[in-house]
Amino acid sequence: MDGIFERYAHLEDVIREYSSEADISRLREAFEYSRAAHREQMRNDGSPFISHPLAAAEIVAEMGLDVDSVIAALLHDCIEDTGATHAEISGMFGGDVADIVEGVTKLTRVTYTSKEEEQMENLRKMLMAMARDIRVILIKIADRLHNMRTLEYQSTTKQSIKALETMEIYAPIAHRLGMQKIKWELEDLSILYLDPIGYKEIEDGLKERRLKNESFLNSIQTKISDRLKDNSIDNAVYGRIKHIYSIYRKMYGQNKELSEVMDLYAFRVIVNDIADCYNVLGHIHEIFHPIPGRFKDYISTPKPNMYRSLHTTVIGGDGVPFEVQIRTWEMHHVAEYGVAAHWKYKQGITGKVSDEEKFAWIRRLLESQQDSDAQDFFQALKIDMFADEVFVFTPRGDVINLPAGATPIDFAYSIHSAIGNRMTGAIVNGRIAPYNHILQNGDIVEVLTAGASKGPSRDWLGIVKSPEARNKIRQWFKKEKREENVVHGRISFEAELRRANFQLQDVTREDVLPRVLKKLAFPTLDDMFAAIGYGGLTAQKAVNRIREDIRQAVRAKDKDEREARAPESAPRPKRKPVLGVTVEGIDNCLVKFARCCTPVPGDPIIGFITRGYGVSVHRDDCVNYIKSLKNPAEAGRWVRVNWENGADDNYQTALSITASDRAGLVVDIASALNAMKIRMLSFAAKDLDGGRITVSVMMEVRDRDALISAITRLMTITGIRDIRRAG
Ligand code: MN
Repeated sequence: MDGIFERYAHLEDVIREYSSEADISRLREAFEYSRAAHREQMRNDGSPFISHPLAAAEIVAEMGLDVDSVIAALLHDCIEDTGATHAEISGMFGGDVADIVEGVTKLTRVTYTSKEEEQMENLRKMLMAMARDIRVILIKIADRLHNMRTLEYQSTTKQSIKALETMEIYAPIAHRLGMQKIKWELEDLSILYLDPIGYKEIEDGLKERRLKNESFLNSIQTKISDRLKDNSIDNAVYGRIKHIYSIYRKMYGQNKELSEVMDLYAFRVIVNDIADCYNVLGHIHEIFHPIPGRFKDYISTPKPNMYRSLHTTVIGGDGVPFEVQIRTWEMHHVAEYGVAAHWKYKQGITGKVSDEEKFAWIRRLLESQQDSDAQDFFQALKIDMFADEVFVFTPRGDVINLPAGATPIDFAYSIHSAIGNRMTGAIVNGRIAPYNHILQNGDIVEVLTAGASKGPSRDWLGIVKSPEARNKIRQWFKKEKREENVVHGRISFEAELRRANFQLQDVTREDVLPRVLKKLAFPTLDDMFAAIGYGGLTAQKAVNRIREDIRQAVRAKDKDEREARAPESAPRPKRKPVLGVTVEGIDNCLVKFARCCTPVPGDPIIGFITRGYGVSVHRDDCVNYIKSLKNPAEAGRWVRVNWENGADDNYQTALSITASDRAGLVVDIASALNAMKIRMLSFAAKDLDGGRITVSVMMEVRDRDALISAITRLMTITGIRDIRRAG
């Protein structure tokens, strides 16, 4: 157990500097708990496993995170590697600690099967998205840093996998969170395993020049600090050789030998306030020659990752250029620890802060992002705080990025339109999920397909979240459902014409139609209807484009007619609605609502003149209506009907609900409707095979909006798979 207890005692000392006795005793408990939980495990280097979580906790404490984070770091592998559970950790150390540990565990379980560049950015984003709490990412980075420090004990395969992941995912995350110190170490450790020869070449080269380097660093350092002391500026000066990966990049990016890489050296001057930063800059430029164009003021314009400093490159006595960074102590902490430093300052100032406050500065940070690379990333960081994207896995482990609120249908279409079109169901995390199931970060989604599937349903257009899926569904309707599209398109086109005070006959006149078709670039009117039906063109756009042509034609016709006929007739009186509906051309006729499709206000509707029973009102997507249009004896009996405002009544409508049968399902449906004050008129359940049932409900709703919210509410009931309206 060499050194474990000494290291732990030192950790306590570090924590004691910013924390209470109560925290220390929780810390000790966590250390003992983790040590006991991992007691059967050994690290590959032969040390007891506890040395790893302890090291992660030391790194987290060095970042200055709160005690909960340090405790969570001690426990970070307990759920993954031992029998510990969220509940147990929560009981002993509180819900926050348990949530963080669980968050880290989730990230640990992410497997990186894909190594494509495009996937890397998605993985970075997903890690950020999955980590509800920024502390989860910071602990994961600490975990990875220690694993990289001890990578020599792993197999060569594991070394190269971990090193690549670190270079591609964790170092960029550290960079974007402004954690320069950790980013450098991660990069140097990665390149050591990714290109051991290149690494060694630089390392050896630097060793050879060690004496020369050291005397150069010392002489410059002395020059600067003497000068500042003479001018009574309180300061600390550090000189260093740039880190290996940054030299590596210069050599390989610019194809240079180590001896040709000029700016190997960097100096840092740290002072107490911003005024001194600029004073120091003045002195530096007086004792050395500044290289024009190399001065950068990141104090007045901080980098997107919050980094602030003055940078200048100057030439020393013997013609060697070097960079000087000038900053205050606070800027220095932020440069080293980035987000974590802000965390610390915020905690220090206000003690206990709410989540809202904790994230306020991240939000400000996001708003100030300017470079697009960082923009993308922080877009992803926003996810848990702003929720606009979701990341899920294919069964193969590829990450798919979808808009927040996306469903299995969006997922299916994002894989391939053929998958979406043949989709018959979905499995999310091993369980059957309804089509409108809202996907969560990290879900594993599998799409069930069948060659004989009927294809997408029009309802899907209202369920999907991504424009991509919507377009692909429309494409399908365009190709597969031409007849239906023509009917649908015709209805919306006519409705739009009516709104503009025209009729279809105004368009189909032989002096108008060719002009209209030419203008809209369709060979026939049916082609245009089809386009409107599948959504390739909106009826509104079509009518707007041809409005002027029709108006001219109609005006010419009216004039002809006026000249041929008696004076204008008086305007027709407004029709009175019956049951909230007016029938065009008929006053006060008997109106009834079709039982096949049970329309409610808000539904697009059409009326059928029955023989002797008045006008029967159908939804314009009712199958009976669509069938009837093909029957020449009936097609002419359809009339336009309209909902009138102020229909102050409830309307009967029918739903058909498909569900997996379970005890209490019917009661749940009934009480959900009851809670929404929706009256049920009839209720019938029928067994299907495969443990499923359909429930037919006849109920009263005020209008389409009320109906849609009822359906949405019902879909949240466990077991319900599909809800369709009758007709
Ligand atoms: Mn670990």
